[in-house]
Amino acid sequence: MPLKPVPYIWMNGRFVRWHQAKIHVLSHVVHYGSSWFEGIRAYKTRRGTAIFRLHDHLRRLERSLRMYYTEMPYTVEELERVCVEVVRRNRLEQCYIRPIVYRGYGDLGVNPMDCPVEVAVAAWEWGAYLGSEAATRGVDVCVSSWQRIASNTMPAMAKAGGNYLNSQLVRIESVRHGYDEGISLDIFGMVSEGSGENVFVVMDGVLYTPPLSASILPGVTRHTVITFAREEGIPVVESSIPRGMLYAADELFFTGTAAEITPIRSVDGVVVGNGGVGPITRRLQERFYQVVRDGEDPYGWLTFVPPAPRRTRAARVAPEATNLRRR
Ligand code: PMP
Repeated sequence: MPLKPVPYIWMNGRFVRWHQAKIHVLSHVVHYGSSWFEGIRAYKTRRGTAIFRLHDHLRRLERSLRMYYTEMPYTVEELERVCVEVVRRNRLEQCYIRPIVYRGYGDLGVNPMDCPVEVAVAAWEWGAYLGSEAATRGVDVCVSSWQRIASNTMPAMAKAGGNYLNSQLVRIESVRHGYDEGISLDIFGMVSEGSGENVFVVMDGVLYTPPLSASILPGVTRHTVITFAREEGIPVVESSIPRGMLYAADELFFTGTAAEITPIRSVDGVVVGNGGVGPITRRLQERFYQVVRDGEDPYGWLTFVPPAPRRTRAARVAPEATNLRRR
């Protein structure tokens, strides 16, 4: 899906026009993948536009940086305000929000520590990541021939730009072979995750998902689903999942900010369960929609976005900065 520009992107403390949000070609990030980012969704709930689990996403961003000996130039609370402002100023009712921290222009040695740490937050409209019918009909996946990065090569727990070279291989291969998405195994042969999603397996009423030690990203949606399942009285087991369980499962689904809760219909051509959306998957989807569509918020997961500013000439010509100082 091509990007649909909106008026503004926030970059290093101020709002700039979408097409002016540029970096130098010799920025460290371009050459060595030195970036850390988040993917967050804002929903048009019955109670207004709300960002889902904003705080938890930005906490993960802070941790991703820490794994690379880097401190965020702004606090989580400041970036929360920036994200809200990006949605508000661009008058987006529902959107995907992309905060990104990256090493900029300075030095092109591998060591990034002398390059500036820069921050941008963009938002745009983004529909269903795995297709418009994915949530109701499910997707067809394969087990990738590409393994997930090992935890002693790069931290899979960090949402770092460089990790997505591994994800790209998984995704490209799966699409080339006619599937919607690929699931990778970790280097020990156990189920890890999709190229941009965590994986859940249902067998005999128990919900299984791989542990952090299986080179997964600690997904915010994964945590959301585990919370719902425990409340519903569904036993949740975080344990190594052998590949065979993918074919034997009663139900399988992906979780992710982009993919939300997407049922998996087949793995390597083997139909999962009876091929439809299973009852546990459906129940968890319903619980998810109660929050992001109905705006029910017993967990404090929604950050509501105040109405957009009135259209004034000043706002059009000179979008004001948000007055933030770097730490
Ligand atoms: N794994 C990977 C590799 C991802 O890119 C994502 C998407 N951020 C996820 C899992 C799911 O994480 P979340 O639910 O926080 O979006």
